[in-house]
Amino acid sequence: MPPCRQSGCDGQIVWAKTPAGANMPIDKGSAGAPEGNLAVRRSGEGLIARVLKNGEEPDKVKAEWSGVCHWATCKNPPQRRRP
Ligand SMILES: [Zn+2]
Repeated sequence: MPPCRQSGCDGQIVWAKTPAGANMPIDKGSAGAPEGNLAVRRSGEGLIARVLKNGEEPDKVKAEWSGVCHWATCKNPPQRRRP
């Protein structure tokens, strides 16, 4: 997997799509992290990630797991941050 392309950051990430179709970088190795603010699931075309609401947990029925959005840990996140 390619590392993060932000300058000064070489974090290992995997890419997912949001339900709206935007790209969402996820920290590699963060699957199942209790502090993860994303719910990630596998779809036919790759990974789908959605942002969890406060107190919400990944939906086991949909086989979601938690993940950490890379922008939360990136050493040099882009100015236009997504919540
Ligand atoms: Zn980064």
